[in-house]
Amino acid sequence: MGAMIDDGAAARHIAGEGTPDASWQAWGGLQDLPPVSAAALVPPGRRAVIVAPHPDDEVLACGGLLQLLAAQGTHTVLVAVTDGTGSHPGSTTITPEQLARLRPRETEAALRALGLDAPAGKPAPRILRARLPDGAVAASLDQLQTLLLQMLRPDDVVFVTWRRDGHPDHEACGLAAAMAASACRATLVEMPVWSWHWAAPGDVRLPWRRARRLALDEEVLRRKRKAVECFASQLRDDPSTGQPAILPPHVLARLLHPYEIYFT
Ligand SMILES: [Zn+2]
Repeated sequence: MGAMIDDGAAARHIAGEGTPDASWQAWGGLQDLPPVSAAALVPPGRRAVIVAPHPDDEVLACGGLLQLLAAQGTHTVLVAVTDGTGSHPGSTTITPEQLARLRPRETEAALRALGLDAPAGKPAPRILRARLPDGAVAASLDQLQTLLLQMLRPDDVVFVTWRRDGHPDHEACGLAAAMAASACRATLVEMPVWSWHWAAPGDVRLPWRRARRLALDEEVLRRKRKAVECFASQLRDDPSTGQPAILPPHVLARLLHPYEIYFT
């Protein structure tokens, strides 16, 4: 975690219950953001590359968009940066080795729940597993950047967690993708995930001027909810450590609005 990533990170600390969803809902600012369509984010013929720090970020951040992209025939690659083995430190119920097997499978199930599984449904994203250490992506920044530099093409649209999202892995992924996209002349779009926790409505630290709102209809949102339910390891408390679920209802409420926000 270098100084480049860490400046001001203390202010973006993820602790407690965070900003209640009701506060976000009550604020008109999100409703007033300029709308954007899936076709405007990823024009036909271009490829979407989703860079997900942990198994679940791909659905929490853009589970609606993934469905809309499949419907328009966009080819999508999911870069799974870590296997999420660090979600249960010290647990005797679920070990890092078990998480390494379980969490990638949860992503696969979630993609099926989104309706993305060829040949029955829409084509599923191709998954590229980087297997970088969960919780320490910043220490492997060069490795991630190299991987992205090798695979990115100039007409790709790269979606990644915002480089100031608050979680060190989310920020490291955002930074690596920003550098790689710039070098490859690919388009970069950033996605807030944990920002909804530490930020407040109208927060000047968020780049509202480049924020766009992608509307999700009822069916798309229903499938996104179903997909989130596939991340069972993140939805349960851990009695062996007393650690509450990573994704309790109050966190999910902030991430299951009938729209998704993208920083273009
Ligand atoms: Zn994450």
